[in-house]
Formats: sequence, structure tokens, C-alpha cells
Amino acid sequence: MEESDLKSLFGRRYLLREKMLLFTIVASLLLISVLHYVTTGDAQALHNIYLEFYYIPVFLGAFLFGLKGGLVTFFAAFLLYLPYILISWTDSVVPEINRFLHLLLQGLFALGAGFLIDRDRQRRDQMEKDRYLAGIGQVATSIVHDLRNPLVTMLGFAKRIQDGKGNQDSNIQAVIDSAQGMERIVDDVLDFARPIRLELQQEDLRQVVDHACVVCKTKAEEGGVKVSRDQPPEPVRTVIDKFQMERAITNLLSNAIEASDRYQTVTISTKSSDNSVSVIIKDHGSGMDSETLENVFIPFYTKKSKGTGLGMSIAKKIIDGHLGTINIYSRPGEGTKVKIEIPHAVPPTGLRGN
Ligand code: ADP
Ligand code: MG
Repeated sequence: MEESDLKSLFGRRYLLREKMLLFTIVASLLLISVLHYVTTGDAQALHNIYLEFYYIPVFLGAFLFGLKGGLVTFFAAFLLYLPYILISWTDSVVPEINRFLHLLLQGLFALGAGFLIDRDRQRRDQMEKDRYLAGIGQVATSIVHDLRNPLVTMLGFAKRIQDGKGNQDSNIQAVIDSAQGMERIVDDVLDFARPIRLELQQEDLRQVVDHACVVCKTKAEEGGVKVSRDQPPEPVRTVIDKFQMERAITNLLSNAIEASDRYQTVTISTKSSDNSVSVIIKDHGSGMDSETLENVFIPFYTKKSKGTGLGMSIAKKIIDGHLGTINIYSRPGEGTKVKIEIPHAVPPTGLRGN
């Protein structure tokens, strides 16, 4: 289901709940008032009970609309009850004082409940705003921090080139490496921030996996990690966005390589079933503790000194866009298995995620 669909569903539910509460307020006000008017004779005790019932709509009014709602409901109750006071007016002072005291208490109750509910809502709004601003601050700090390291390296080597120090070729290579590192961070942030536009086509998933392996080849070689492919001989046909899927698989594969020790093997297998296609990336590396497992899809969550913490979030966003699932099985010290599954049903082309 699209996020906008979910929002409108919750919006509709919320509206329905409000309408039902509003109906309950009006209905209970009318019902309690009618009870007063139809209960004749000197069943005074009953009238006292009915009077207490007014607390219900007054509370609901305050709950739903805060101070204004509480006071409006109270005045509505008062106006509905006023004719009854006048009709049943007696010369004995005590019952009349009793009634007015009751009404006064209800008015105070409306004021108090409405005030507390308004204050609580204001506090919650403020907390949400604070959390939002803190989130933006955290994201900005994280990006700036990630960009700073390669920038400092780049400046250092540019200065060496300017001063003619060291081997010029390796100085230039270091500048290029740092610039590429920065480009990767910028790409990750952009990918994460913008909606994913899927261009769906019938593809052979094996080719997508092959290409992801080529992209990760240098990383695997540098880390001394072997990447082993387990693919069926026949094409694994599915409707996907080749570019995006490759990006998701590359992120997962590169994490598996980074988590592995020298001489370890990462296996990537592709399978097709009647309803779906799947890719499983299995490593025997560091594995994840429960805290990492819990947070792995949270943007900017990383345990690496040079990580952006966006790889898994981007992969999830892409898989979600294909209406697929991504599951992680991992134990510290034993390695990790990441399984992505994409259903065969063709999702409509267009913007996915946010
Ligand atoms: P990054 O790789 O930049 O840290 P990711 O979003 O790709 O960001 O991953 C987030 C974190 O999840 C990593 O820092 C790492 O701790 C953990 N992680 C992801 N994949 C694996 C894996 N295969 N094995 C162990 N830990 C992993
Ligand atoms: Mg990563």
C-alpha cells in the first residue's frame, strides 16, 4: 500500500472517530435533557443523577476540542437544563442552590479539563517540533562530519601537489579518491532524500546481480574477500527497475564484504519461485548485535568510522518501492544473511517512497 493511501486511511479513521465523538456529545446532551423533562413527579433523586450525567458530554467536548469544546458543551448543557430549572422552581432554597452548585462545578470541570487537555496538546506539539529540529540538526551534523574527512585529505594532498612534495601521481590519486568518496556520500544523501522513480522493465535478475558483483569487485579484492555467485542456468525473469535494484544489491553486497575478514567468502544466490524472485547475500563476517539489527534501517545509523549509514535505508526504500521484502538473519561473530524477495506481480510505475 502506498504511504499516501495509508495516510488517507488514517485520516479517514481519525475523521470517523471525531464524528462519532461529536455525535455522542450531541446525543448524550439531548438524551440527558429529555430524561429531565420526562421524569415528572418528585423523583428528585433521579434528577440529581441525570444532572451528574452532564459530566460525560462536557468531558468528551473538552477531550475532543480542548477548552473551547468543554465550555461550549457546558453552555449547551446549561441552556438545555435552564428551562427545567425554571419549570421546577420551588420556593425552598436548598434544592435550587444544590442545582446551581452542581452547574458551577460542571463549569469549573469544563474549564479545568479543557485547560489541561489544551496544555497537554501544546506540549506534545512543541516536543514534536523539538524532535524534528533535533533530527535535522543530527542529519546535518552527520553529513558535514562525513564530508569533512575526505575534504581535509583532499586539501592536504592538493597542498602537497602545489608545494611539489612527494610523488605527484600518488598525490593526484589521493585527491581523486577523496573526491570520489565525497561524491559517494553526496549521491547517498541525494538518493535517500529524493523519491525513487522506478522505471520498470522485464529483466534477468542474474544480470543485475552480475553487475553488482562487478561494481564491488575492487572492494572485495582489496579486502581479500571472495564473492561466490550461485545462479540458476536459466534467466531469472522479473519486472524491476534495473538501476535501482542494482544499487540496492550493491549496498547489501558491499556491507557483506566490509563485514568479512580476509579469505572469507560472501555468497550471493538468486532464485525464482512461482510467486517471487529472491536474492540472498550471505557472509561469515562480524554479524550484528541486537542493537545494530534493530537500527540497521534507520537513516545515518552506522558503526563504521567512514560509513554514511544510508546503504541499508536506501536498499530498503528500493525494495519497498518494488513491493518486496528485506529480511536479515544475523548473529554476532557468525555472519549475516540478507534475503530480498520481490513479488512477480507488476507494481505500477511511478514515484515510490519519499
Ligand atoms: P554503512 O555501511 O555506511 O555503515 P549501512 O546502512 O549500509 O551504512 O549499514 C548500517 C550498519 O549496519 C553498518 O554500519 C553495520 O554496522 C551494519 N551492517 C550492515 N550490513 C552488515 C553485515 N552484512 N554484517 C554486519 N553488519 C552489517
Ligand atoms: Mg553500507
